[in-house]
Amino acid sequence: MAGAVGGRVRTPAPSRSRTLVRVQELHDAPLAPLTTFRLGGPAARLRIATTDDEVVEAVREADAGGSPLLIVAGGSNLVVADEGFPGTALRIATSGVELSGTSLELAAGENWSDAVARTVDAGLAGIECLAGIPGSAGATPIQNVGAYGQEVSSTITEVVAYDRRTDETVVVPNSECGFSYRHSRFKADPTRFVVLRVRFRLEDAGGLSAPLKYAETARALGVGPGDRVPVQTARETVLKLRAGKGMVLDPEDHDTWSAGSFFTNPVLDERDFEAFTARVAERLGADVAAPAFPDGEGRTKTSAAWLIDRAGFGKGYGTGSARISTKHTLALTNRGDASTADLLALAREVRDGVREAFGITLVNEPVTVGCSL
Ligand SMILES: Cc1cc2nc3c(=O)[nH]c(=O)nc-3n(C[C@H](O)[C@H](O)[C@H](O)COP(=O)(O)OP(=O)(O)OC[C@H]3O[C@@H](n4cnc5c(N)ncnc54)[C@H](O)[C@@H]3O)c2cc1C
Repeated sequence: MAGAVGGRVRTPAPSRSRTLVRVQELHDAPLAPLTTFRLGGPAARLRIATTDDEVVEAVREADAGGSPLLIVAGGSNLVVADEGFPGTALRIATSGVELSGTSLELAAGENWSDAVARTVDAGLAGIECLAGIPGSAGATPIQNVGAYGQEVSSTITEVVAYDRRTDETVVVPNSECGFSYRHSRFKADPTRFVVLRVRFRLEDAGGLSAPLKYAETARALGVGPGDRVPVQTARETVLKLRAGKGMVLDPEDHDTWSAGSFFTNPVLDERDFEAFTARVAERLGADVAAPAFPDGEGRTKTSAAWLIDRAGFGKGYGTGSARISTKHTLALTNRGDASTADLLALAREVRDGVREAFGITLVNEPVTVGCSL
């Protein structure tokens, strides 16, 4: 049993003596090109690991040397300080896809969107609405990625991770991943686990998608929420909707030089929601209703994009090098020559403006490294 993890230990982490690993290494390496924002200074040391053993070895070495460690995969959810990172950045570049029946296992470094395409080609349902989300498979459990009515927490069965605290490779079952909206125990305790593999259970619905939960997708397909459509059609529709919002990576399109949504949707308890609706009525008129989605236990989720827009920060807002996307108010973007300081200044302006207008403090979704809002 692996200490407090509670998950089953699959294998002990490889011992130093029987592991011959050669992890690629660079010094004073720019991190900006490894992020979708294309922002941030250099890492003192950048290591690139292409196998699980290399990942474990590189993490062990960094930990043994007391060097701060930053795991970088697709870099699509990272805001790195202009000053860079003074420790070891470890790029996860492992590969491996095993699809057997409805079971899927992905190495952490696999490209997520490609893996989704593969499962859809096999006619399987469960992650088709997560098509087009950039980044790696190994990062999906970190913030429980989600979009268009699906979240990976519904299909992940287990996460295989290296536990830095116990120096063991552990298998964390779904029930112990602590998944919630854009959150997990991996995000809560970022210095403990390095994800090596992620296992999923998909559904064979005879080539049909999972029941569509998101009204916009159902509307675009001319069906009702809860209906199923051919799984390939669901994927393609989501990709089209995402592209229209600048949410599919395109190197030519500055609207996608972002981390996707910069803020999470606020979840309010009953009292805060009442105060919020009163504020909306006072500011925008009694006939204006803010988006409100029941979120269990008396809580209500509202829309960060709506708040930003109604607080006066519309699409394309800003005059500098960091601006709001011209396609989506929730994405902050680098128009080409921004710095992280520019981006953070814009993020603070938006956060403070929304707070002043509606009394709600937005929280950033991407992980900040060496900086904060
Ligand atoms: C255009 C665009 C659209 C997006 N749309 C969505 C969306 O619809 N839904 C959504 O949820 N997200 C979305 N995102 C955010 C992002 O794509 C996801 O969070 C993605 O899972 C990040 O993967 P990554 O490999 O790029 O992680 P990185 O950005 O490299 O890392 C993110 C965090 O995870 C940690 N990490 C990464 N890999 C591992 C690992 N193997 N073990 C331990 N820690 C690890 C990193 O240290 C860091 O803290 C979008 C981003 C962009 C740019």
